[in-house]
Amino acid sequence: MTDGSPVPRRPAPSAAAGAGALLQLLRDGTPRTRSELSALTGLARSTVTGRVDALLAAGLIAPTGETASTGGRPPATFAFNPAARIVLGADLGATHARLAVTDLAGNVLAATTADLDIALGPKAVLDWTVEHGLALLAEVERPASDLLGIGIGLPGPVEHDTGRAVNPPIMPGWDGFDVPAYVSERIPVPVMVDNDVNIMALGEHFTAWPEYEHLLFIKAATGIGCGIIAAGQVYRGAQGAAGDMGHIRVAGADDVHCRCGNTGCLEAVASGAAIARNLTAQGIEAGGSLDVVELARAGSVPALRLVRQAGRDIGEVLAGAVNFFNPSIIVIGGSLALAGDHLIAGVREVIYQRSLPLATRHLRIAAARTGESSGAIGAGVMVIEHALDPARLDAITEIKTNG
Ligand SMILES: [Zn+2]
Repeated sequence: MTDGSPVPRRPAPSAAAGAGALLQLLRDGTPRTRSELSALTGLARSTVTGRVDALLAAGLIAPTGETASTGGRPPATFAFNPAARIVLGADLGATHARLAVTDLAGNVLAATTADLDIALGPKAVLDWTVEHGLALLAEVERPASDLLGIGIGLPGPVEHDTGRAVNPPIMPGWDGFDVPAYVSERIPVPVMVDNDVNIMALGEHFTAWPEYEHLLFIKAATGIGCGIIAAGQVYRGAQGAAGDMGHIRVAGADDVHCRCGNTGCLEAVASGAAIARNLTAQGIEAGGSLDVVELARAGSVPALRLVRQAGRDIGEVLAGAVNFFNPSIIVIGGSLALAGDHLIAGVREVIYQRSLPLATRHLRIAAARTGESSGAIGAGVMVIEHALDPARLDAITEIKTNG
């Protein structure tokens, strides 16, 4: 099994480390001296000094005092300054919205949540987001100019580069809508958009599993989706459709019709909606994913049996993904995961039986830890990782250093 297996570490920045890579080192929060940074990166002391000055000027690191010295003036230490800037993350679900203001380390400073129907259309939903986002800024007493940016997650396919929703099935009026333009007209900061599963994967990875480079996050809820973290970054694929595992066929379900027009899709047999339909057909009233969770928690044997089988069906699709992608961890989240251990037990059962031994030798399969705030935190993390990307930060600090 898996717990206790060696944990992969983040790769060390290369010897050609710029200011951005120095910041990556310091983002673990440990204060370091110029000499230590020089030793860790292989850069000359003078080069480190220039880059430390640039990061100090940008406010991204701060002096943390002096270390004990063997005589003479003690050397100064520097650490990441997560309070320097803030981000606003919005997780806009089908019927529910969550907002969070976090610092640059993903710590939630203020948050709010409300019932909000995505089908109200982009203007109504984004106006709400702007209004309540500004209220959160007022609550933490920070001006909008402190925002590094705004991250938004939407419950449907998104063209990440432009921030537009693409043919979203449950989002009338959103198709092609320019979300970043609309929001940044009201709060003039960079705005980034992605789908809900990708931001949940980011939030979960950043908060709970940063040491795992290759992560699959499964959202098992009304539908089933997968967020992919490859080499520490969200992997979106050519059209942003990577991880859309809900419409992969599972064996023995050829007679089950899916809303996509095909038969035998994973989502048609193993989603919260599918289990609820199945229970209702057996005479046990269940309206959706949350009813399934409630029944399972109350010990309903038919509900537990179906949740376990859903885990096996998800495991069957994931077993192929494990051979293909060789993840270091699979994290199971979404409302259906709240039904207890039965879903994850079913997933484990099939993956360890069906995937290749080399791919499962150090594979960990775990329940999500970040809970309902993972999406809002992840939307903010998307902005942080983009802005603090070493290459991008090098360019910014170069400009600042050179005038
Ligand atoms: Zn389908």
